Amino acid sequence: MRPVTDPTRPEEASEQATEADEIATRLREVRARIDDAAQKAGRTPGSVRLVAVSKGKPASAIRAAYAAGQREFGENYAQELEEKASQLADLEGLVWHAIGQLQRNKARTITRVAAYVHAVDRVEIAEELGRRAAGKGKRIKALVEVNVSGETSKGGCAPSDAGTVLAAIRKAPGLEAVGLMTIPPDSDDPEVARRVFAELRALRDEHGGVAKLSHLSMGMTHDFPIAVAEGATLVRVGTAIFGARTRPVA
Ligand SMILES: *Cc1c(COP(=O)(O)O)cnc(C)c1O
Repeated sequence: MRPVTDPTRPEEASEQATEADEIATRLREVRARIDDAAQKAGRTPGSVRLVAVSKGKPASAIRAAYAAGQREFGENYAQELEEKASQLADLEGLVWHAIGQLQRNKARTITRVAAYVHAVDRVEIAEELGRRAAGKGKRIKALVEVNVSGETSKGGCAPSDAGTVLAAIRKAPGLEAVGLMTIPPDSDDPEVARRVFAELRALRDEHGGVAKLSHLSMGMTHDFPIAVAEGATLVRVGTAIFGARTRPVA
């Protein structure tokens, strides 16, 4: 009698099921921690959105998160973003966030897929993204990445340049300025991140407040509850949902 399934396949299928269960469990935990941090800060839990950062992870991991109710995903690289978007074109209601450093020659690819770009840090990038998006009849939500800590290795504009970059976004027909984004320095001291997040919020208040810039994109796996306490509306969490990345990705 011919076996119904290849004896190697069920194992593979159950490994995938286990991975999917783990992703669903971790997602629930991350959401619970976001809600908890929001509540403690006197914020409504619905005011914080989770962007699941899937860089370096296969499309199957995104499908698992989608099955667990996740709709917003973040990718760093234009190529990877476009590949996954096309592999997952059957999933309705996916919202893609381009969260990585931006290069002008990637603007075309990014504007094909992304609903949000988080790391606009130069006037020329704003202009190029805006031109490409407008050419496709799109209006992409854009955030200015600010290098609050001033580390030289980091992307993002100086706090004093945020106004100029915001103005360029507001002038660009294919973009809508929706907020600010930052990445704090690596530190074991949570107070370092807290200060950086608070400074980003203060900068937002200098540039029109919530009425004009509704989003603060801040907080990753090791510091998202602090970011929520300091006013984050978009937290970008990868490792806590999908597990450690095996290949190096910035
Ligand atoms: C990788 C990455 C994240 C997610 O980082 P984790 O520590 O895995 O949560 C968030 N934001 C940006 C810009 C990233 O590059």
